[in-house]
Amino acid sequence: VPVLSAQNIGKSYGSGTNRFNALKGVSLEIRAGESVAIVGKSGSGKSTLMHLLALLDDPDTGTLLVEGTDARTLKGTEVNRLRNQDFGFVFQQFFLTANATVLDNVVLPLKIAGVPPRERKARGMAALEQLELADKAKNKAITLSGGQKQRAVIARALVNNPKVIFADEPTGNLDTATGAVVEDILFALNKDKGITLIIVTHDIELAARCDRQIFIRDGREDTTESGAPRKRHA
Ligand code: ADP
Ligand code: ADP
Repeated sequence: VPVLSAQNIGKSYGSGTNRFNALKGVSLEIRAGESVAIVGKSGSGKSTLMHLLALLDDPDTGTLLVEGTDARTLKGTEVNRLRNQDFGFVFQQFFLTANATVLDNVVLPLKIAGVPPRERKARGMAALEQLELADKAKNKAITLSGGQKQRAVIARALVNNPKVIFADEPTGNLDTATGAVVEDILFALNKDKGITLIIVTHDIELAARCDRQIFIRDGREDTTESGAPRKRHA
């Protein structure tokens, strides 16, 4: 059974004359352990698709199956559990709480899951050690460099041992060298821990590192872009 299966899912925003059809029916399957890039130009609908796959938003049309179960049949508590425990999130904008400590940011998913304080701290520190950020645990998130912030975000994404990591332009705010480190960390988690990796990006070289690429154009899958993605400069 695929981890995620989308059948003709669509999404529009706004209403009336402002209604905009951002996703016009996309079907795909994501299998456990694979790395998949969702690729396309800015505004093509990549983030919308990712939000639907991650249960952050509901499709207007079509069906989303999570490990074979129709997402519409899931209770709210189950959706929250999936989002908080089975899924980890890495966004370009980090979404760290600037004036909270790095450790408090990292243990937030554990707090939401009801893990007691002592265990939260132990697991949070273990995640920070894995990302080589243990020495920053007590520092406020705002004091970190861009690369350190994204490593803290990855620690937060990992703290619940997720099955799937969703990464939306994970290197978008980082310089090339720092971005390469963050990329390597994400692919190591995929290869070594078998965490399914879904990366939204317009970076064709990052996409090429994934097992598979799904090209989105104007809200639809673009199957003419099949095969290996082209390099920026051939
Ligand atoms: P991408 O991630 O490929 O840049 P998005 O999925 O973010 O594309 O957006 C697809 C289209 O939907 C864009 O034209 C965008 O402006 C529009 N859009 C996205 N989110 C909203 C929203 N909340 N309200 C209205 N329009 C939106
Ligand atoms: P750099 O990669 O140059 O160190 P930063 O990572 O500091 O850049 O910042 C990238 C962007 O994210 C900036 O627009 C910044 O204002 C914003 N940002 C950084 N940290 C936070 C935070 N903790 N909360 C909210 N926004 C932040």
